[in-house]
Amino acid sequence: VILDQSYRARVGHIGSALSVADIVAALYGRVIRIPSHKDPERDRFVLSKGHAALALYAALHLRGWISDAQLNRYCADGSPLGVHPEFGQEGVDFATGSLGQGLSMAVGCALAAKWDKSERRVFVLLSDAECNEGSVWEAAMLASHHRLSNLVAVIDVNGQQALDYTHRVVDLRPLKDRWSAFGWDAVDVDGHDTEELASLMQESNPPGGSPRVLLARTVCGKGVSFMENEIQWHYLPLSDEQYSQALHEMEETV
Ligand SMILES: [Mg+2]
Repeated sequence: VILDQSYRARVGHIGSALSVADIVAALYGRVIRIPSHKDPERDRFVLSKGHAALALYAALHLRGWISDAQLNRYCADGSPLGVHPEFGQEGVDFATGSLGQGLSMAVGCALAAKWDKSERRVFVLLSDAECNEGSVWEAAMLASHHRLSNLVAVIDVNGQQALDYTHRVVDLRPLKDRWSAFGWDAVDVDGHDTEELASLMQESNPPGGSPRVLLARTVCGKGVSFMENEIQWHYLPLSDEQYSQALHEMEETV
């Protein structure tokens, strides 16, 4: 879905979507409880790195909330499926794409669930470079202050951002220690190991415990040899030849 739609619509952000595809697959395939997208007690998901929307649309398509016809209108005029997720599309609860904001939305949502004495849980997926932003750390402090054990943040630690590698822009290391220092239960995980991701997202600390953050080590452009760890694939769309090769490589690994 990610390759087909980005190729058809001539839209980039392919590397970012492939970076998180396994995380979103683990979440939507095994963890998140959404009996219906209108059920008020459903779990919530915030895709803070909204530019990876195609990974979310692929999951919603598998869940049956986006049809083939709707998918094929990705980025068309009037379509609710834009480059970034928009509220209004079934299954999308949060419009995102303005980076550094998603954790704050998720904290508010988790706090509301706690006040409601609800069992619902909140998941949020951030890019590593969003941790450059102060708003992320304000939200992190608030979450640990309120002991939001119903909140799980996953950081897509691919070591890249739009125009360079993260260690050359603002070095985030030691990222795990920083989250721990902010009162979070921080766990390292291979961001392409869906079994491990699912089990770590499924587990939650008891009420009154710490919020959890998974530092998911990922490869930007995962699964396509010429994209992996290459900065340019943050933005570039695919040429005809590149699309064929990428599809071929993906089919070989499935
Ligand atoms: Mg990144």
